[in-house]
Amino acid sequence: MSAVADGSPVEVETLIAGGGVGGLTAALALARAGRPVRLLERALEFTEIGFGIQLGPNATRALDGLGVLDELLPLAVQPRELLYMDALSGERITSIDLGDAFVARYGHPYVVVHRSDLQRKLLGACVREPLVTIETGRELVAFEEDADGVTVRCADGASYRAQALIAADGLNSRVRGTIARGEPRAEGFVAYRGTIPIADMTPRAEADAMVMWVAPDTHMVQYKVRGGALYNQVAVFRSRRFDAGDPDWGSPEELDEHYQAFCEPVRVAASQLGRKHRYPMADRDPIATWTTARVALLGDAAHPMLPVLAQGGCQAIEDGIALPVAFAGAADVPAALSAYERRRAPRAGRVQSSARRFAEVCHIGGVGVELRNALFGQHDPQDYTVLDWLYDDAEVRA
Ligand SMILES: Cc1cc2nc3c(=O)[nH]c(=O)nc-3n(C[C@H](O)[C@H](O)[C@H](O)COP(=O)(O)OP(=O)(O)OC[C@H]3O[C@@H](n4cnc5c(N)ncnc54)[C@H](O)[C@@H]3O)c2cc1C
Repeated sequence: MSAVADGSPVEVETLIAGGGVGGLTAALALARAGRPVRLLERALEFTEIGFGIQLGPNATRALDGLGVLDELLPLAVQPRELLYMDALSGERITSIDLGDAFVARYGHPYVVVHRSDLQRKLLGACVREPLVTIETGRELVAFEEDADGVTVRCADGASYRAQALIAADGLNSRVRGTIARGEPRAEGFVAYRGTIPIADMTPRAEADAMVMWVAPDTHMVQYKVRGGALYNQVAVFRSRRFDAGDPDWGSPEELDEHYQAFCEPVRVAASQLGRKHRYPMADRDPIATWTTARVALLGDAAHPMLPVLAQGGCQAIEDGIALPVAFAGAADVPAALSAYERRRAPRAGRVQSSARRFAEVCHIGGVGVELRNALFGQHDPQDYTVLDWLYDDAEVRA
């Protein structure tokens, strides 16, 4: 039935607004649990996304549970280690061993993958699922909640009547404002990112590692994706022009100027990045309330975070698989959404706050650089105790 045919709202059980990693995971997880879902994505189509994403074992475990991981692994890369490097001196600071000991501890691997490959696999699984209906070109512009449900209106005039609305509509969520106050927090950090063919990469990248370069107000991440065929690079820096109120802050010229200060591999990598898209970065403060009786926030709409822990997408995936668990034990929609919030808000909030703190450590300047490097340098690559809360299954389920 067309959502715009006769002007009356289309009745649906669960409506998801937003088809990013969070919305697609939620759609798949709910449908697998027997709940019909309709997902509205404002883009006209699911297009190629030109960069990678890291998935910790908390996310690969969830994807495995949804039957998506086996399909994804041939396209993914499992880095042997995460290497922290000083972008000024070019020296190694510390590393985390992501090999057998890591996989044995958490039961699932740390993988890096092209975002388009992740999107394609999640979307493909949703399309094969009879209980999922996906509509593109549908932008939620308004909604109204009453005791029995939610009425949603889209920019093209389509309307829906749902028992529950899951807002997976990203950082600038249209739904969030009715649940929580506040604007995204931006501090002038901007990212440039993209992939290059493996043949064009710098020699360091030959190592089977994921590399995180850190320096004052700066970090850069490098890793292979698409089974090793492409090299993904992300360069982040804090724009000084942002402080001066320059509307052109974080421009490609400023990227070039900023990265001149660093060691050669970092300068070379920065010069290889596409300049067409600039990604200003923002997070928000954690919030305890994600839901009303019939509306719930999910993913970046609920908990946008700085990317240094590489967990924004992973937490969105955790949200997605938490929904059917919450519905299974609940008498009705309000009880289910309340259970979802109780399960997810404290944990995702902790990850958000930790990401902000870890960003400060990565971006520290002055004498802090030496202190950080000395402290991190004492870390045993196979000591995972600081990571257990983030990746361990029992912790994730608590
Ligand atoms: C530089 C950088 C690197 C990162 N690296 C990692 C990483 O390695 N690992 C990781 O886990 N996370 C990473 N993240 C974070 C991750 O990208 C996000 O947390 C994740 O994409 C959030 O997914 P989402 O589905 O909640 O939102 P989004 O991906 O933003 O998806 C929202 C979707 O909703 C649609 N939409 C928006 N408004 C509407 C509307 N009104 N109606 C209908 N549809 C709408 C949008 O078109 C979009 O498709 C990184 C972020 C940055 C900036």
